Amino acid sequence: MSQTNMSSKVNIHWFRRDLRLEDNTALSQALQSGNPVICIFIFDRAILDELAADDARVGFIHERLTAMHEELKQHGSGLVVLHGQAPEMWEKVMRSYDVETVFTNRDYEPYALTRDKEVTDFLEKNGATLQTFKDQVIFEPGDVLKADGTPYTVYTPYSKKCIEHFDDSMLQAAPSAAHLDKLHQFSTEPTLPTLKSLGFNQSEITVRPYSIAEPRIAKYDQSRDFPAMEGTSDLSPHLRFGSISVRQAMKETYQVNHTFAKELFWREFFMQILFHFPHVVKNSFRAKYDRIVWRNDEKEFKRWCAGQTGYPMVDAGMRELNETGYMHNRVRMVVASFLCKHLLIDWRWGEAYFAEKLLDFELASNNGNWQWAAGTGCDAAPYFRVFNPTSQMDKFDKARVYIKKWIPEFDTDKYAEPMVEHKMARERALATYKEALAMA
Ligand code: FAD
Repeated sequence: MSQTNMSSKVNIHWFRRDLRLEDNTALSQALQSGNPVICIFIFDRAILDELAADDARVGFIHERLTAMHEELKQHGSGLVVLHGQAPEMWEKVMRSYDVETVFTNRDYEPYALTRDKEVTDFLEKNGATLQTFKDQVIFEPGDVLKADGTPYTVYTPYSKKCIEHFDDSMLQAAPSAAHLDKLHQFSTEPTLPTLKSLGFNQSEITVRPYSIAEPRIAKYDQSRDFPAMEGTSDLSPHLRFGSISVRQAMKETYQVNHTFAKELFWREFFMQILFHFPHVVKNSFRAKYDRIVWRNDEKEFKRWCAGQTGYPMVDAGMRELNETGYMHNRVRMVVASFLCKHLLIDWRWGEAYFAEKLLDFELASNNGNWQWAAGTGCDAAPYFRVFNPTSQMDKFDKARVYIKKWIPEFDTDKYAEPMVEHKMARERALATYKEALAMA
Protein backbone atom coordinates (compact mmCIF):
# COMPACT_ATOMS: atom_id res chain seq x y z
CA MET A 1 0.00 0.00 0.00
CA SER A 2 1.33 3.49 -0.84
CA GLN A 3 2.35 5.38 2.28
CA THR A 4 1.30 8.93 3.07
CA ASN A 5 2.78 11.33 5.50
CA MET A 6 1.26 9.98 8.76
CA SER A 7 1.12 13.48 10.19
CA SER A 8 -1.55 14.63 7.73
CA LYS A 9 -5.10 13.54 8.46
CA VAL A 10 -7.04 11.94 5.64
CA ASN A 11 -10.59 10.77 5.08
CA ILE A 12 -11.42 7.63 3.19
CA HIS A 13 -14.12 6.81 0.70
CA TRP A 14 -14.77 3.07 0.84
CA PHE A 15 -16.31 1.78 -2.43
CA ARG A 16 -18.58 -1.28 -2.24
CA ARG A 17 -21.72 -1.45 -4.42
CA ASP A 18 -21.23 2.06 -5.81
CA LEU A 19 -18.56 1.66 -8.49
CA ARG A 20 -18.75 5.12 -10.05
CA LEU A 21 -17.27 8.54 -9.38
CA GLU A 22 -20.24 10.66 -10.44
CA ASP A 23 -23.44 11.01 -8.39
CA ASN A 24 -22.03 9.03 -5.49
CA THR A 25 -23.35 10.35 -2.17
CA ALA A 26 -20.64 9.20 0.24
CA LEU A 27 -17.83 10.10 -2.17
CA SER A 28 -19.30 13.55 -2.72
CA GLN A 29 -19.61 14.08 1.04
CA ALA A 30 -16.05 12.84 1.63
CA LEU A 31 -14.68 15.23 -0.97
CA GLN A 32 -16.40 18.14 0.76
CA SER A 33 -15.30 17.11 4.26
CA GLY A 34 -12.09 19.13 4.56
CA ASN A 35 -9.43 16.42 4.67
CA PRO A 36 -7.79 14.96 1.55
CA VAL A 37 -9.63 11.84 0.43
CA ILE A 38 -8.19 8.40 -0.31
CA CYS A 39 -10.47 6.07 -2.30
CA ILE A 40 -10.27 2.39 -1.41
CA PHE A 41 -11.86 -0.88 -2.45
CA ILE A 42 -11.43 -4.18 -0.62
CA PHE A 43 -11.70 -7.53 -2.42
CA ASP A 44 -13.04 -9.43 0.56
CA ARG A 45 -11.72 -12.98 0.70
CA ALA A 46 -14.80 -14.11 2.62
CA ILE A 47 -16.82 -13.35 -0.52
CA LEU A 48 -14.28 -14.16 -3.27
CA ASP A 49 -13.37 -17.58 -1.86
CA GLU A 50 -16.93 -18.76 -2.56
CA LEU A 51 -16.75 -17.94 -6.29
CA ALA A 52 -15.57 -19.89 -9.36
CA ALA A 53 -12.27 -18.74 -10.93
CA ASP A 54 -14.03 -17.51 -14.09
CA ASP A 55 -16.79 -15.61 -12.26
CA ALA A 56 -17.73 -12.84 -14.68
CA ARG A 57 -18.90 -10.54 -11.89
CA VAL A 58 -15.38 -10.26 -10.48
CA GLY A 59 -14.16 -9.38 -13.98
CA PHE A 60 -16.81 -6.65 -14.19
CA ILE A 61 -15.83 -5.23 -10.79
CA HIS A 62 -12.20 -5.27 -11.87
CA GLU A 63 -13.08 -3.46 -15.08
CA ARG A 64 -14.96 -0.76 -13.15
CA LEU A 65 -12.12 -0.35 -10.65
CA THR A 66 -9.61 0.03 -13.48
CA ALA A 67 -11.73 2.73 -15.13
CA MET A 68 -12.11 4.63 -11.84
CA HIS A 69 -8.39 4.27 -11.08
CA GLU A 70 -7.49 5.78 -14.47
CA GLU A 71 -9.81 8.70 -13.84
CA LEU A 72 -8.50 9.27 -10.31
CA LYS A 73 -4.93 9.18 -11.64
CA GLN A 74 -5.73 12.13 -13.88
CA HIS A 75 -6.28 14.08 -10.67
CA GLY A 76 -2.95 13.05 -9.16
CA SER A 77 -4.54 10.35 -7.06
CA GLY A 78 -5.57 6.74 -7.65
CA LEU A 79 -7.57 3.89 -6.20
CA VAL A 80 -6.13 1.77 -3.38
CA VAL A 81 -7.31 -1.80 -3.96
CA LEU A 82 -6.76 -4.34 -1.19
CA HIS A 83 -7.30 -8.08 -1.20
CA GLY A 84 -7.70 -10.08 1.99
CA GLN A 85 -9.84 -10.71 5.06
CA ALA A 86 -11.72 -7.47 5.71
CA PRO A 87 -10.65 -7.00 9.38
CA GLU A 88 -6.94 -7.44 8.49
CA MET A 89 -7.29 -5.02 5.62
CA TRP A 90 -8.71 -2.39 7.94
CA GLU A 91 -5.76 -2.88 10.31
CA LYS A 92 -3.48 -2.30 7.35
CA VAL A 93 -5.33 0.87 6.34
CA MET A 94 -5.15 2.26 9.86
CA ARG A 95 -1.41 1.47 10.10
CA SER A 96 -0.75 3.24 6.78
CA TYR A 97 -2.81 6.42 7.11
CA ASP A 98 -3.89 8.86 9.79
CA VAL A 99 -7.61 8.40 9.19
CA GLU A 100 -10.22 10.66 10.69
CA THR A 101 -13.42 9.47 8.98
CA VAL A 102 -14.37 6.66 6.63
CA PHE A 103 -17.24 7.55 4.30
CA THR A 104 -19.31 4.83 2.68
CA ASN A 105 -22.75 4.18 1.20
CA ARG A 106 -25.13 2.02 3.19
CA ASP A 107 -25.71 -1.63 2.31
CA TYR A 108 -28.75 -3.32 3.88
CA GLU A 109 -27.93 -7.02 3.48
CA PRO A 110 -27.40 -9.08 6.64
CA TYR A 111 -23.71 -9.86 5.90
CA ALA A 112 -22.97 -6.20 5.14
CA LEU A 113 -24.74 -4.97 8.28
CA THR A 114 -22.65 -7.28 10.48
CA ARG A 115 -19.44 -6.35 8.65
CA ASP A 116 -20.15 -2.64 8.95
CA LYS A 117 -20.85 -2.94 12.68
CA GLU A 118 -17.47 -4.68 13.13
CA VAL A 119 -15.70 -2.00 11.06
CA THR A 120 -17.43 0.76 13.07
CA ASP A 121 -16.23 -0.79 16.35
CA PHE A 122 -12.72 -1.29 15.01
CA LEU A 123 -12.44 2.28 13.72
CA GLU A 124 -13.77 3.71 16.96
CA LYS A 125 -11.15 1.79 18.94
CA ASN A 126 -8.57 3.37 16.66
CA GLY A 127 -9.82 6.93 16.98
CA ALA A 128 -11.73 7.11 13.67
CA THR A 129 -15.40 6.93 12.68
CA LEU A 130 -17.52 5.37 9.94
CA GLN A 131 -20.11 7.66 8.36
CA THR A 132 -22.69 5.98 6.15
CA PHE A 133 -25.08 7.45 3.58
CA LYS A 134 -28.22 6.54 1.68
CA ASP A 135 -27.23 6.05 -1.94
CA GLN A 136 -28.28 2.77 -3.53
CA VAL A 137 -32.03 3.37 -3.10
CA ILE A 138 -34.60 6.14 -3.34
CA PHE A 139 -36.28 4.87 -0.17
CA GLU A 140 -34.36 3.06 2.54
CA PRO A 141 -35.90 0.28 4.61
CA GLY A 142 -37.83 2.21 7.25
CA ASP A 143 -38.55 5.25 5.04
CA VAL A 144 -41.83 3.84 3.77
CA LEU A 145 -43.95 2.17 6.45
CA LYS A 146 -47.62 1.41 6.98
CA ALA A 147 -49.71 3.85 9.07
CA ASP A 148 -49.12 1.67 12.13
CA GLY A 149 -45.34 1.90 11.69
CA THR A 150 -44.85 -1.68 10.50
CA PRO A 151 -43.19 -2.63 7.19
CA TYR A 152 -45.21 -3.29 4.07
CA THR A 153 -45.33 -6.90 2.98
CA VAL A 154 -47.44 -6.32 -0.13
CA TYR A 155 -45.93 -4.51 -3.11
CA THR A 156 -48.92 -2.57 -4.50
CA PRO A 157 -49.65 -0.43 -1.39
CA TYR A 158 -45.88 -0.12 -0.82
CA SER A 159 -45.30 1.26 -4.31
CA LYS A 160 -48.32 3.59 -3.97
CA LYS A 161 -46.85 5.03 -0.79
CA CYS A 162 -43.46 5.40 -2.50
CA ILE A 163 -45.09 7.42 -5.28
CA GLU A 164 -46.97 9.54 -2.71
CA HIS A 165 -43.70 10.36 -0.90
CA PHE A 166 -41.61 10.75 -4.02
CA ASP A 167 -40.46 14.14 -5.22
CA ASP A 168 -37.84 15.47 -7.61
CA SER A 169 -35.50 16.58 -4.83
CA MET A 170 -34.80 12.90 -4.10
CA LEU A 171 -33.15 12.61 -7.50
CA GLN A 172 -30.67 15.40 -7.05
CA ALA A 173 -27.22 14.21 -8.07
CA ALA A 174 -24.40 14.20 -5.50
CA PRO A 175 -21.62 16.10 -7.30
CA SER A 176 -18.05 14.84 -7.34
CA ALA A 177 -16.47 16.21 -10.51
CA ALA A 178 -16.11 19.72 -9.11
CA HIS A 179 -14.37 18.44 -5.97
CA LEU A 180 -11.84 15.98 -7.34
CA ASP A 181 -9.04 18.40 -6.44
CA LYS A 182 -9.68 17.30 -2.83
CA LEU A 183 -8.35 13.83 -3.53
CA HIS A 184 -5.22 12.80 -1.70
CA GLN A 185 -2.13 13.22 -3.92
CA PHE A 186 0.07 10.12 -3.75
CA SER A 187 3.83 10.47 -4.08
CA THR A 188 3.90 6.90 -5.40
CA GLU A 189 0.81 5.99 -7.39
CA PRO A 190 -1.04 2.91 -6.07
CA THR A 191 -1.09 -0.05 -8.46
CA LEU A 192 -4.12 -2.22 -9.06
CA PRO A 193 -3.86 -5.99 -8.55
CA THR A 194 -4.44 -7.92 -11.77
CA LEU A 195 -7.44 -10.21 -12.09
CA LYS A 196 -5.02 -13.12 -12.18
CA SER A 197 -3.32 -12.13 -8.93
CA LEU A 198 -6.77 -12.19 -7.31
CA GLY A 199 -7.12 -15.81 -8.47
CA PHE A 200 -9.55 -15.12 -11.33
CA ASN A 201 -9.55 -15.46 -15.13
CA GLN A 202 -11.26 -13.22 -17.62
CA SER A 203 -14.65 -14.78 -18.38
CA GLU A 204 -16.18 -14.87 -21.83
CA ILE A 205 -19.38 -13.64 -20.25
CA THR A 206 -19.67 -9.85 -20.06
CA VAL A 207 -22.05 -7.25 -18.70
CA ARG A 208 -23.99 -5.43 -21.42
CA PRO A 209 -24.42 -1.65 -21.35
CA TYR A 210 -27.82 -0.56 -20.04
CA SER A 211 -30.46 0.99 -22.34
CA ILE A 212 -32.66 3.62 -20.76
CA ALA A 213 -33.00 5.94 -23.72
CA GLU A 214 -36.52 7.09 -24.46
CA PRO A 215 -37.55 4.87 -27.41
CA ARG A 216 -37.03 1.64 -25.49
CA ILE A 217 -38.47 2.85 -22.19
CA ALA A 218 -41.46 4.55 -23.85
CA LYS A 219 -42.53 1.16 -25.26
CA TYR A 220 -41.65 -0.77 -22.08
CA ASP A 221 -45.29 -1.63 -21.22
CA GLN A 222 -45.84 -3.29 -24.58
CA SER A 223 -42.54 -5.07 -24.95
CA ARG A 224 -41.28 -6.02 -21.49
CA ASP A 225 -42.90 -9.47 -21.40
CA PHE A 226 -41.53 -10.75 -24.69
CA PRO A 227 -38.08 -12.31 -24.35
CA ALA A 228 -37.31 -12.16 -28.08
CA MET A 229 -37.65 -8.37 -28.05
CA GLU A 230 -35.09 -5.91 -26.76
CA GLY A 231 -37.76 -4.56 -24.50
CA THR A 232 -36.14 -4.13 -21.10
CA SER A 233 -33.37 -1.89 -19.80
CA ASP A 234 -30.56 -4.33 -18.80
CA LEU A 235 -30.07 -2.06 -15.81
CA SER A 236 -29.94 -4.76 -13.16
CA PRO A 237 -26.18 -5.57 -13.06
CA HIS A 238 -25.44 -1.84 -13.20
CA LEU A 239 -27.73 -1.15 -10.26
CA ARG A 240 -26.20 -4.12 -8.46
CA PHE A 241 -22.65 -2.82 -8.75
CA GLY A 242 -23.51 0.86 -8.84
CA SER A 243 -22.13 1.68 -12.26
CA ILE A 244 -25.21 3.95 -12.51
CA SER A 245 -26.95 5.62 -9.59
CA VAL A 246 -30.58 4.71 -9.02
CA ARG A 247 -31.30 8.46 -8.97
CA GLN A 248 -30.00 8.86 -12.51
CA ALA A 249 -31.91 5.76 -13.68
CA MET A 250 -35.11 7.13 -12.16
CA LYS A 251 -34.51 10.69 -13.40
CA GLU A 252 -34.05 9.56 -16.98
CA THR A 253 -37.12 7.33 -17.04
CA TYR A 254 -39.95 8.33 -14.71
CA GLN A 255 -41.41 11.04 -16.95
CA VAL A 256 -41.16 8.69 -19.93
CA ASN A 257 -42.85 5.65 -18.45
CA HIS A 258 -44.39 5.28 -15.01
CA THR A 259 -44.65 1.50 -15.27
CA PHE A 260 -40.91 1.30 -15.70
CA ALA A 261 -40.21 3.65 -12.81
CA LYS A 262 -42.44 1.51 -10.59
CA GLU A 263 -40.34 -1.57 -11.44
CA LEU A 264 -37.44 0.12 -9.70
CA PHE A 265 -39.54 0.07 -6.52
CA TRP A 266 -39.79 -3.74 -6.72
CA ARG A 267 -36.06 -3.77 -6.08
CA GLU A 268 -36.46 -1.55 -3.03
CA PHE A 269 -39.51 -3.48 -1.86
CA PHE A 270 -37.50 -6.69 -1.63
CA MET A 271 -34.59 -4.87 0.00
CA GLN A 272 -36.83 -3.69 2.80
CA ILE A 273 -38.35 -7.17 3.14
CA LEU A 274 -34.88 -8.70 3.60
CA PHE A 275 -33.93 -5.96 6.05
CA HIS A 276 -37.05 -6.30 8.23
CA PHE A 277 -37.46 -10.08 7.88
CA PRO A 278 -33.92 -11.51 7.65
CA HIS A 279 -35.27 -15.03 8.35
CA VAL A 280 -36.14 -15.16 4.62
CA VAL A 281 -32.50 -15.91 3.79
CA LYS A 282 -32.92 -19.44 5.10
CA ASN A 283 -36.65 -19.90 5.62
CA SER A 284 -39.92 -19.27 3.86
CA PHE A 285 -41.36 -15.83 4.57
CA ARG A 286 -44.45 -17.64 5.81
CA ALA A 287 -43.41 -20.35 8.25
CA LYS A 288 -46.15 -22.82 7.34
CA TYR A 289 -44.65 -23.21 3.85
CA ASP A 290 -41.53 -24.70 5.40
CA ARG A 291 -43.65 -27.84 5.91
CA ILE A 292 -43.73 -28.59 2.18
CA VAL A 293 -42.17 -31.98 1.54
CA TRP A 294 -40.00 -31.34 -1.53
CA ARG A 295 -39.07 -34.24 -3.80
CA ASN A 296 -35.56 -32.80 -4.34
CA ASP A 297 -34.53 -35.27 -7.04
CA GLU A 298 -30.89 -34.46 -7.88
CA LYS A 299 -31.02 -35.90 -11.39
CA GLU A 300 -34.06 -33.82 -12.23
CA PHE A 301 -32.36 -30.75 -10.79
CA LYS A 302 -29.38 -31.34 -13.09
CA ARG A 303 -31.65 -31.52 -16.12
CA TRP A 304 -33.27 -28.24 -15.10
CA CYS A 305 -29.85 -26.58 -14.64
CA ALA A 306 -28.66 -27.79 -18.04
CA GLY A 307 -31.82 -26.74 -19.91
CA GLN A 308 -32.80 -30.33 -20.77
CA THR A 309 -36.32 -30.57 -19.34
CA GLY A 310 -38.08 -30.95 -22.70
CA TYR A 311 -40.09 -27.76 -22.00
CA PRO A 312 -38.71 -25.22 -24.50
CA MET A 313 -39.44 -22.07 -22.51
CA VAL A 314 -37.66 -23.53 -19.46
CA ASP A 315 -34.73 -24.89 -21.47
CA ALA A 316 -34.20 -21.73 -23.50
CA GLY A 317 -34.10 -19.69 -20.28
CA MET A 318 -31.65 -21.97 -18.51
CA ARG A 319 -29.37 -22.12 -21.56
CA GLU A 320 -29.47 -18.34 -21.87
CA LEU A 321 -28.51 -18.08 -18.20
CA ASN A 322 -25.66 -20.59 -18.50
CA GLU A 323 -24.25 -18.95 -21.62
CA THR A 324 -24.71 -15.26 -20.82
CA GLY A 325 -25.44 -14.69 -17.12
CA TYR A 326 -28.75 -13.07 -18.16
CA MET A 327 -32.32 -14.34 -18.23
CA HIS A 328 -35.42 -12.36 -19.14
CA ASN A 329 -37.79 -11.71 -16.23
CA ARG A 330 -40.79 -13.48 -17.81
CA VAL A 331 -38.63 -16.56 -18.38
CA ARG A 332 -37.21 -16.40 -14.84
CA MET A 333 -40.78 -16.67 -13.56
CA VAL A 334 -41.47 -19.68 -15.78
CA VAL A 335 -38.28 -21.61 -14.92
CA ALA A 336 -38.65 -20.88 -11.20
CA SER A 337 -42.25 -21.99 -11.13
CA PHE A 338 -41.35 -25.14 -13.08
CA LEU A 339 -38.63 -26.09 -10.60
CA CYS A 340 -40.75 -25.55 -7.51
CA LYS A 341 -44.12 -26.75 -8.75
CA HIS A 342 -43.55 -29.21 -11.60
CA LEU A 343 -40.49 -30.84 -10.10
CA LEU A 344 -41.20 -30.06 -6.44
CA ILE A 345 -37.62 -29.04 -5.84
CA ASP A 346 -36.92 -26.69 -2.94
CA TRP A 347 -36.85 -23.04 -4.10
CA ARG A 348 -33.55 -22.65 -2.21
CA TRP A 349 -31.83 -24.94 -4.75
CA GLY A 350 -32.96 -22.74 -7.61
CA GLU A 351 -32.13 -19.59 -5.71
CA ALA A 352 -28.57 -20.84 -5.12
CA TYR A 353 -28.13 -21.77 -8.79
CA PHE A 354 -29.28 -18.31 -9.89
CA ALA A 355 -26.96 -16.73 -7.29
CA GLU A 356 -24.03 -18.53 -8.88
CA LYS A 357 -24.92 -17.64 -12.48
CA LEU A 358 -26.79 -14.32 -12.66
CA LEU A 359 -24.73 -11.24 -13.45
CA ASP A 360 -27.31 -9.20 -11.58
CA PHE A 361 -27.48 -11.54 -8.60
CA GLU A 362 -28.67 -9.60 -5.61
CA LEU A 363 -29.74 -11.38 -2.46
CA ALA A 364 -32.92 -9.40 -1.77
CA SER A 365 -34.34 -9.54 -5.32
CA ASN A 366 -33.30 -13.12 -5.92
CA ASN A 367 -34.68 -14.41 -2.64
CA GLY A 368 -37.86 -12.32 -2.89
CA ASN A 369 -38.62 -13.42 -6.44
CA TRP A 370 -37.87 -17.08 -5.75
CA GLN A 371 -40.19 -17.05 -2.77
CA TRP A 372 -42.76 -15.28 -4.94
CA ALA A 373 -42.52 -18.02 -7.58
CA ALA A 374 -42.65 -20.81 -5.01
CA GLY A 375 -45.63 -19.19 -3.33
CA THR A 376 -43.82 -19.14 0.01
CA GLY A 377 -43.08 -15.42 0.21
CA CYS A 378 -44.73 -12.15 0.98
CA ASP A 379 -47.07 -11.01 -1.77
CA ALA A 380 -46.46 -14.36 -3.45
CA ALA A 381 -48.17 -15.98 -6.39
CA PRO A 382 -50.86 -18.13 -4.74
CA TYR A 383 -49.68 -21.71 -4.48
CA PHE A 384 -52.45 -22.99 -6.72
CA ARG A 385 -51.24 -20.76 -9.60
CA VAL A 386 -49.05 -23.12 -11.58
CA PHE A 387 -47.60 -21.60 -14.74
CA ASN A 388 -48.15 -23.76 -17.79
CA PRO A 389 -44.76 -23.54 -19.55
CA THR A 390 -46.30 -24.36 -22.92
CA SER A 391 -49.00 -21.73 -22.83
CA GLN A 392 -46.43 -19.20 -21.55
CA MET A 393 -44.38 -19.98 -24.67
CA ASP A 394 -47.44 -19.65 -26.92
CA LYS A 395 -48.29 -16.30 -25.37
CA PHE A 396 -44.86 -14.70 -25.06
CA ASP A 397 -42.82 -16.35 -27.82
CA LYS A 398 -45.46 -17.18 -30.37
CA ALA A 399 -43.06 -17.13 -33.34
CA ARG A 400 -40.52 -19.22 -31.36
CA VAL A 401 -37.79 -16.66 -32.00
CA TYR A 402 -36.44 -16.82 -28.44
CA ILE A 403 -36.77 -20.59 -28.24
CA LYS A 404 -34.90 -21.20 -31.51
CA LYS A 405 -32.15 -18.82 -30.52
CA TRP A 406 -31.25 -20.93 -27.47
CA ILE A 407 -32.35 -24.41 -28.55
CA PRO A 408 -30.87 -25.13 -31.99
CA GLU A 409 -32.27 -28.69 -31.94
CA PHE A 410 -35.83 -27.47 -31.22
CA ASP A 411 -38.39 -29.24 -33.41
CA THR A 412 -35.99 -32.06 -34.28
CA ASP A 413 -35.90 -35.55 -32.80
CA LYS A 414 -32.70 -34.59 -30.96
CA TYR A 415 -34.67 -32.39 -28.59
CA ALA A 416 -35.54 -33.94 -25.19
CA GLU A 417 -39.03 -35.28 -24.46
CA PRO A 418 -40.85 -33.43 -21.64
CA MET A 419 -39.40 -34.87 -18.42
CA VAL A 420 -42.72 -34.66 -16.62
CA GLU A 421 -46.31 -34.49 -17.79
CA HIS A 422 -47.86 -31.07 -17.09
CA LYS A 423 -51.28 -32.13 -15.82
CA MET A 424 -49.90 -34.77 -13.48
CA ALA A 425 -47.19 -32.41 -12.19
CA ARG A 426 -49.73 -29.67 -11.54
CA GLU A 427 -51.99 -31.97 -9.56
CA ARG A 428 -49.03 -33.39 -7.63
CA ALA A 429 -47.90 -29.87 -6.69
CA LEU A 430 -51.37 -28.84 -5.56
CA ALA A 431 -51.74 -31.95 -3.42
CA THR A 432 -48.28 -31.49 -1.86
CA TYR A 433 -48.83 -27.83 -1.02
CA LYS A 434 -52.32 -28.55 0.28
CA GLU A 435 -51.03 -31.25 2.57
CA ALA A 436 -48.34 -28.95 4.00
CA LEU A 437 -50.82 -26.18 4.64
CA ALA A 438 -53.37 -28.54 6.19
CA MET A 439 -50.83 -29.26 8.95
CA ALA A 440 -50.89 -25.57 9.93
P1 FAD B 1 -36.26 -4.12 -16.45
O1 FAD B 1 -37.53 -4.81 -16.77
O2 FAD B 1 -35.72 -3.15 -17.42
O3 FAD B 1 -36.52 -3.42 -15.03
C1 FAD B 1 -35.72 -2.31 -14.56
C2 FAD B 1 -35.24 -2.60 -13.17
O4 FAD B 1 -36.33 -2.75 -12.25
C3 FAD B 1 -34.43 -3.87 -13.03
O5 FAD B 1 -33.10 -3.68 -13.44
C4 FAD B 1 -34.56 -4.14 -11.54
O6 FAD B 1 -33.68 -3.34 -10.79
C5 FAD B 1 -35.99 -3.69 -11.24
N1 FAD B 1 -36.90 -4.84 -11.31
C6 FAD B 1 -37.68 -5.21 -12.33
N2 FAD B 1 -38.39 -6.32 -11.99
C7 FAD B 1 -38.02 -6.64 -10.74
C8 FAD B 1 -38.40 -7.67 -9.84
N3 FAD B 1 -39.32 -8.60 -10.15
N4 FAD B 1 -37.78 -7.71 -8.66
C9 FAD B 1 -36.86 -6.79 -8.29
N5 FAD B 1 -36.48 -5.79 -9.09
C10 FAD B 1 -37.06 -5.71 -10.30
N6 FAD B 1 -33.34 -9.08 -10.20
C11 FAD B 1 -32.11 -8.72 -9.77
O7 FAD B 1 -31.72 -7.56 -9.92
N7 FAD B 1 -31.29 -9.63 -9.16
C12 FAD B 1 -31.66 -10.93 -8.95
O8 FAD B 1 -30.89 -11.71 -8.37
C13 FAD B 1 -32.93 -11.33 -9.43
N8 FAD B 1 -33.35 -12.63 -9.31
C14 FAD B 1 -34.60 -12.99 -9.78
C15 FAD B 1 -35.03 -14.31 -9.62
C16 FAD B 1 -36.28 -14.71 -10.09
C17 FAD B 1 -36.75 -16.16 -9.88
C18 FAD B 1 -37.10 -13.78 -10.75
C19 FAD B 1 -38.47 -14.19 -11.26
C20 FAD B 1 -36.70 -12.46 -10.90
C21 FAD B 1 -35.45 -12.05 -10.42
N9 FAD B 1 -35.01 -10.71 -10.55
C22 FAD B 1 -33.77 -10.35 -10.07
C23 FAD B 1 -35.93 -9.66 -11.05
C24 FAD B 1 -35.91 -9.38 -12.56
O9 FAD B 1 -36.01 -10.57 -13.29
C25 FAD B 1 -34.66 -8.62 -13.01
O10 FAD B 1 -34.48 -7.47 -12.20
C26 FAD B 1 -34.81 -8.16 -14.46
O11 FAD B 1 -35.04 -9.26 -15.30
C27 FAD B 1 -33.53 -7.45 -14.90
O12 FAD B 1 -33.58 -7.07 -16.25
P2 FAD B 1 -33.73 -5.55 -16.65
O13 FAD B 1 -32.75 -4.73 -15.88
O14 FAD B 1 -33.69 -5.48 -18.12
O15 FAD B 1 -35.19 -5.24 -16.08
